[in-house]
Amino acid sequence: MRWGFVFVTMIAALLFSILPVTAAELQAQPVWIAVNDELLTFPDAQPELRGGTTYVPVRFVAEAMQADLTWVPVTSLVTIYKDGRHITLDTANGILKTDLGEQHRVDLYTQDQRLMAPTRLMSESLGYQVSYIASGPISRIKDDSAKLTDEELAAKFKARIDKEKAKWEAEHPAQQPVPEAPKPDKVVYLTFDDGPNAYTEQILNTLKEQGVTATFFVLGPQIEQHKDLAKRMIDESYSVGLHGMTHDSKKIYRSPQTVVQEMEDCNKILTQATGFRTAIMRVPYGSKPWMPQNYRDATVNAGYHMWDWNVDSYDSKSSTRTADETYTEITNQVSGKKNAIVLLHDKKTTADALPKIIKWLKDNGYAFERIYGSTPPVNFWNDQR
Ligand SMILES: [Zn+2]
Repeated sequence: MRWGFVFVTMIAALLFSILPVTAAELQAQPVWIAVNDELLTFPDAQPELRGGTTYVPVRFVAEAMQADLTWVPVTSLVTIYKDGRHITLDTANGILKTDLGEQHRVDLYTQDQRLMAPTRLMSESLGYQVSYIASGPISRIKDDSAKLTDEELAAKFKARIDKEKAKWEAEHPAQQPVPEAPKPDKVVYLTFDDGPNAYTEQILNTLKEQGVTATFFVLGPQIEQHKDLAKRMIDESYSVGLHGMTHDSKKIYRSPQTVVQEMEDCNKILTQATGFRTAIMRVPYGSKPWMPQNYRDATVNAGYHMWDWNVDSYDSKSSTRTADETYTEITNQVSGKKNAIVLLHDKKTTADALPKIIKWLKDNGYAFERIYGSTPPVNFWNDQR
């Protein structure tokens, strides 16, 4: 392993000179990294906040986790192993692969010849939780062995962080004082079912214009008809989940195996169209009463995390449904929720209502997130698996 590291350091500079550097082009601000109750120290490349995401030198964070790391220079693949879990960073293509079979587009770049990767996705995919302590700011990677609360940790290291922050500010006089990123206490997940179809493009355009993310639960036959839209979803970093093949309750719910088979077939078509697999699914018509324990066991064993919703836009309730009715339904139901999972569909009135819906959510302080395989699932059975 040690010789591996030496080799790695020697060729790293060569390897990464060809990487895309989108994250590296954003202005960086300092951030501190803790693993459980300890604040890490980095010898050369420093962790940094870029565009709201914390990036860390991969090797040192892996060492602090006591994880094993291998790097195969020929294939540009870095794999991190921790307690039976693993992730692979495809540094040539900017892809993070999880052991759930998911692939995420991520910004991987080098700083002082060190590979930098997004902390949260990397750590959560290895089974850790990540909290963001705005007063530091500290990105804290933790598991069951963490003893301190976030507040206690911030207090313990306050003096050191203040000193280092003052030093950083002195070295970067041209930059504005760092505004503390407010921790989003209200999160919304926009989810679109039944596509891709003729209305998906308008939805994708709106999301892009508004700079917000979302999740699409797609049907296999629809992907086959609109491969370009499925590819666009992946290329523009939306999350894609499975919605099966037939959308027919008589067919899909015949047995636990038929549900699994529909998801597997849908995933296969997704992979053929985009090169990507997913580990999240949403069953047609919602999981209750259709997905009792033995059905859920089967999909969990197949590696899937099941999602329903807690806000129903009723955008498919009737053919006369208007964009304004969908907007009103959502704003009524989202109000007061800290974690809103909004069910929408790829259809014309929804696409037309979307700019107004997004504006309302932004005005009301919601941060937009997409669903990952590592996001704790929300479903009607409270099945957290
Ligand atoms: Zn549906």
